[in-house]
Amino acid sequence: MNVQPVPQAQPADNLVEVRDVKKWFPVQQGVLDKLLAAGHQDYIHAVDGISFEIRRGEVFGLAGESGSGKSTTGRLVVRMETPTAGSIHFDGADISALEGEELRRLRRRMQIIYQDPMASLNPRMALGEAIGYGLKVHAPELGDAERHQRTIDMLEKVGLSPAQFFYGKFPHQISGGQRQRAVIARALITHPDLILADEPIAMADVSVRALLLDLMNQLKREFNLTYLFITHDLATAKYICDRIGIMYLGKLVEVAELRELYSHPLHPYTQALLAAVPVPNPHQRRTQAMPEGEIPNPIHPPAGCRFHPRCPLAAEPCAVEDPPLRALRPDHTVACHYAERFL
Ligand code: SF4
Repeated sequence: MNVQPVPQAQPADNLVEVRDVKKWFPVQQGVLDKLLAAGHQDYIHAVDGISFEIRRGEVFGLAGESGSGKSTTGRLVVRMETPTAGSIHFDGADISALEGEELRRLRRRMQIIYQDPMASLNPRMALGEAIGYGLKVHAPELGDAERHQRTIDMLEKVGLSPAQFFYGKFPHQISGGQRQRAVIARALITHPDLILADEPIAMADVSVRALLLDLMNQLKREFNLTYLFITHDLATAKYICDRIGIMYLGKLVEVAELRELYSHPLHPYTQALLAAVPVPNPHQRRTQAMPEGEIPNPIHPPAGCRFHPRCPLAAEPCAVEDPPLRALRPDHTVACHYAERFL
């Protein structure tokens, strides 16, 4: 399948455009369940009709509790998953249904930094080999000497210095922070345009988290990168994101520039997430528990606003009408019937 050009002119500064994307996973059924269901198939509504853009050169964050659909959205954007419905454009081309060789070529331009570096590195592969492997796959024309040199340069750039020392090390021989630097090096070696960073510092020691975020920021400038940064933690997002989308039960409920979101949260769920962020000043304690209850079952999401069973402001239309995303402030959209109360 060829990469199709986008019919309408795309604004030049959007690297990614996601439009009405859904991802539903069929619920696995046993033999007895199938007989009882009589042909009926249930689906997990992991992502359920979301639209957003990632601007070239920015860090776009997706935040929300576990089960909100943010990681599935990330995997859709880098086409590790195929959307059930909707379209995804990357650099002006529709990548929604790419397969085979076109999808493999796209991989060079999109790389992933996972949460657990130990699980994402092959324990039997030395770091140099693991990092250079991407060049072997995506730039086979490079000779061994050139691949080795580029790997050495990349090790130095991510702070694994002296590079010759780390080149031959195995994942279990280095610290967790160093492993995550190796994963970052592996992601950057093919000079991608977009990096999906899925909770990239969640498993790192607290003492090295800020260093890793600094490194990611520095590399972003140096390599002209765009990040899709997935996090459950708005305190982390504050250090790196330019804009943030808040997800709840497969829907985007609010999207805004970082400072705007922190200073004028318009959605009750965003307000609850921000109120739960610990403040490192004992005189300004504002840590609050999240609203009562857990995220509802994504197989049968609530009608109307999906947040209404937990929302302290829920009123009559909330259980019936699904609020659309509306622009209520500059570069700030929110999906709540009563968001005007917070303007
Ligand atoms: Fe709460 Fe209603 Fe707004 Fe949903 S639409 S967040 S239930 S007030």
